[in-house]
Amino acid sequence: MKSIIIANWKMNPVTIRKAETLFNLVERGIKNIKKIYPELSRRVEVVICPPFVYLPVLGASAFAEGCGGLALGSQNVFWEEKGAFTGEISPKMLKDLGCQYVILGHSERRKHVQETDEMINKKIKKVLKAQLKPILCVDNVSQVKKGLKGVLKKDLKKLILAYEPIWAIGTGKACSLDKAKNMKNKIQRILGNEVKILYGGSVNSKNAAHYIKQAGFQGLLIGSASLNPKEFIKIIKTICRG
Ligand code: PEP
Repeated sequence: MKSIIIANWKMNPVTIRKAETLFNLVERGIKNIKKIYPELSRRVEVVICPPFVYLPVLGASAFAEGCGGLALGSQNVFWEEKGAFTGEISPKMLKDLGCQYVILGHSERRKHVQETDEMINKKIKKVLKAQLKPILCVDNVSQVKKGLKGVLKKDLKKLILAYEPIWAIGTGKACSLDKAKNMKNKIQRILGNEVKILYGGSVNSKNAAHYIKQAGFQGLLIGSASLNPKEFIKIIKTICRG
């Protein structure tokens, strides 16, 4: 089964030049992996989620390179299409830039800008309507239920759910495989087997493959390690090893 590896760059790096360098290094790394594993694109989908402001430039460079196997995602979106919503970005704008994925409900947004389950729920519905793929981040079952309230069963297939225990994010303390697997099974009992479930929280090149091969996750959401191109490429390589 194809794994999805999502890089959440958060509010990094601080200049467009550094963002381009990081993106190019990841692209080059993937090309090198393809020399060893030509079937990489069948095994892994790599998604880069940079800050909004870098999307147009990285999108253009990805397309100029024939996409290099990389897809683009954003880290947030607003629920309206256009109009008097100062400072917001709509699903349609993201789609127009070649974005395919949208991270929603990340714990840092829930904490720092008080994003609620109700707001996240509205965003998910609009993202699905715009034919973008939402990546819903959750720490517990209540967030799964509230975030997906009213979402049609047929749309669950298009959804990606990332189980990210808050205490594991950016702390270097990854969740045990047993605990993570337990939560994945709980979510599957609620949503069915068609939803793709990823793990996120202090993933590195040593633990990455275990979440997929032993705990049965369909991919990973990676923060800190995605800012280190060597480590990020190493993670992709361990997943490709099959
Ligand atoms: C994240 O930001 O979603 C994340 C999982 O971060 P980290 O990999 O740094 O724990």
